[in-house]
Amino acid sequence: MEHGPPDAARILGGQDGSMSETIPAHGGQLVDLTVAGEERQGLRQRAASLSTIYLNDRSVSDLELLSNGGYSPLRGFMGRADYGSVLKSMRLASGLPWPIPITLAVGRCEAEGLPEGGEVALADEAGRVLAVLELADKFACDKRREARAVFRTEDEAHPGVAALYRQGEVLLAGAVRVIDLPPHDDFPRYRLTPAQTRASFAERGWRTVVGFQTRNPVHRAHEYIQKCALETVDGLLLHPLVGETKAGDIPADVRMRCYEVLLELYYPADRVLLSVNPAAMRYAGPREAIFHAIIRKNYGCTHFIVGRDHAGVGEYYGPHDAQHIFSEFAPGELSITPMFFDNTFFCERCAGMASAKTCPHQEGDRVILSGTQVRELLKGGLAPPSEFTRPEVAEVLIQAMQERATPHDAV
Ligand SMILES: [Zn+2]
Repeated sequence: MEHGPPDAARILGGQDGSMSETIPAHGGQLVDLTVAGEERQGLRQRAASLSTIYLNDRSVSDLELLSNGGYSPLRGFMGRADYGSVLKSMRLASGLPWPIPITLAVGRCEAEGLPEGGEVALADEAGRVLAVLELADKFACDKRREARAVFRTEDEAHPGVAALYRQGEVLLAGAVRVIDLPPHDDFPRYRLTPAQTRASFAERGWRTVVGFQTRNPVHRAHEYIQKCALETVDGLLLHPLVGETKAGDIPADVRMRCYEVLLELYYPADRVLLSVNPAAMRYAGPREAIFHAIIRKNYGCTHFIVGRDHAGVGEYYGPHDAQHIFSEFAPGELSITPMFFDNTFFCERCAGMASAKTCPHQEGDRVILSGTQVRELLKGGLAPPSEFTRPEVAEVLIQAMQERATPHDAV
């Protein structure tokens, strides 16, 4: 069984807008910020003499998605016109929908020495120079305004707000040229760029593809939602986020093992592609649902699943806010089609998976477990009911719990 790319060596680009393209990238053209050949050599040499900014994990994720076109049409970190417009109206200054600022924050002292109109090298925390920023502008980050606009709260207990408040006060704006994509030693066969997922869809002959965002193991409820969506389109892109998440989320390597066994045993190989999304979670709920949809559009998806409390955390957002926000855009503005689902469950009387929309029975007929109940079962080495979690997935989770000293509190 093969759920990865058919053959990485045969995947060549797919950016030519060929007949088989599922959907154009956001803004029309898939961006590629990598430089090659002599230009790359020259840039690498010059970077050695430039001031260097060391990026945290989140900014490295942003750089990767800028570089590979996941953030098309962005070509660098946002300037003040785009930043203000995104906060105010969920659109770039050009009017194109864009819900989350993509900015590069540094401390005041660090910003002072950097030359506007000049170049700055961008390195990861290990000191590897990845890219060069043409510094067009430096401006102050209005953290409270950004928190209210993006997260709908100024509460520092919110992990996205906390990350925003921790960052520097000055935003560096400008186009980037990328020397090297951030190196990864985990999940190499699943690290497909938007050009590669697009090529893979074309190779499989898929014209319509639904994207599924997740940062959790897939239980029966999500399997059901994915398969309901798949009934109406050609293919499913299972696109787990493996960038930075909050403490307590299940580690990415465990989740990947869960997806592998689930796909191997319960999904048709020719209808599903598993690939990872390098983005970091922001927990911005409704705005992040739009953000996730735009990223998946760039990866070639024509449809995107938005469940209950998508990208939410705690009680900051209403259960359907992430679905309602799509109505703030005119038809065709996003062009990717959202598919909305409510919570689903196995119902004994229906003898199948259902939701409140399709099952008329009582709570007592439904197999519903809280996150806490599932964690307690797994910690005790017990599998949740097979109507809730596939036994092979439960086995992976139980094993992971036993291998790790610290229990993880999100299942
Ligand atoms: Zn029922």
